[in-house]
Amino acid sequence: MELQSNLLDRKVSFVTGASRGIGRAIVEEFAKNGSIIYANSLTEGSLAGLTEYIFKKYGVQVTPLYFDVRDSQSAKKAIIQIHKEQGKLDILVNNAGIMKDALIGMITKQLMEDTFSVNVFAVMELLQLASKLMIRQKSGSIINIASIVGVNGNMGQLVYSASKGAVISLTKTASKELAPKNIRVNAIAPGMIDTDMFQSIGREHVEKRLSNIGMGRLGTPEDVAKTCVYLASDLSSYVTGQIIGVDGSALV
Ligand code: NAP
Repeated sequence: MELQSNLLDRKVSFVTGASRGIGRAIVEEFAKNGSIIYANSLTEGSLAGLTEYIFKKYGVQVTPLYFDVRDSQSAKKAIIQIHKEQGKLDILVNNAGIMKDALIGMITKQLMEDTFSVNVFAVMELLQLASKLMIRQKSGSIINIASIVGVNGNMGQLVYSASKGAVISLTKTASKELAPKNIRVNAIAPGMIDTDMFQSIGREHVEKRLSNIGMGRLGTPEDVAKTCVYLASDLSSYVTGQIIGVDGSALV
C-alpha cells in the first residue's frame, strides 16, 4: 500500500468527469488522503478500472455515478444518493468539461449550447444542489475547474474561453453568497495539462504551445489534483473566492 496522509479523513467528496485526465487524478489524490469518494463520468463502465485500481492500491471504495452532468434529474438523484448513504457532502469538484475549438465565423449555435450546458449550466446546477446540503451542515468546499484561457483568452477558443470565464465569475459570486454559511468556493485555472483533452489539439500544436510554458513542460493531472487536495482540505480553511492558476507560468 502507498504512503497516505489524512488531509481528507472521512470527508465525503463528489468529483465529476472522473474517468480520465484531471478528474481521475483528483480521485487518486483524494483516496490517498482518506476521502470517501463518489465519482461521476458520462460513459457507462468507464470508471470500472479506476475503482478497482483505487481499491487495490489504497483500500478505498469509490462509488461510481454514471450520468450526463447536463441532466438535472440525474444530478439531483446523485446528490440525494450521497446524502442518504453518508448523511453529508463535504467536497464538490466540478471537473467535467468539454473543449471544442472554432474560429470566429465558424462558431455554430450548437457548439455554444453544448459547451455552455456542460461547462457552465451543469456547474451552476451542481453547485446549487450541493450547497443546499452544505448549508444544513454549515460547512463545505466547492472547487470548480476553470482554465487559464478563461482569464487570458486564446485563439480559436471564443466559446470555450467564455465558458471558463463564466466559471470564474460564478465562483466569485458563489463564494460571496456562501461564505456566511461557512462554505468555501474556489476555482483552479489549469494551463496546459497532459490529458486526452489537451492532446486533442494535435501534435504540431502541442509542440508550439510547449514553447509558451515558462517551466518548459506540460502540467500533469497530478499537479492539478494536489491543488485540489489543498482547496478541499482544512489547509485552506480561510481561502475562498480565489482562482488558483496551475500553469507552470504559461503565456497561452
Ligand atoms: P478529459 O481528459 O477530456 O476528460 C473529461 C472528463 O469529463 C471525462 O471523465 C468525461 O467522461 C467527462 N465528461 C465530459 N462530458 C461529460 C458530461 N456531459 N457528463 C459527465 N461527464 C462528462 O478532460 P481533462 O483534460 O481531464 O479536463 C478536465 C477539466 O479540466 C475540464 O473542465 C477542462 O475544461 C479543464 N481543463 C483542462 C485543461 C487541459 O489542458 N487538459 C486545461 C484547463 C482546464 P467520459 O470518459 O465518460 O467521456
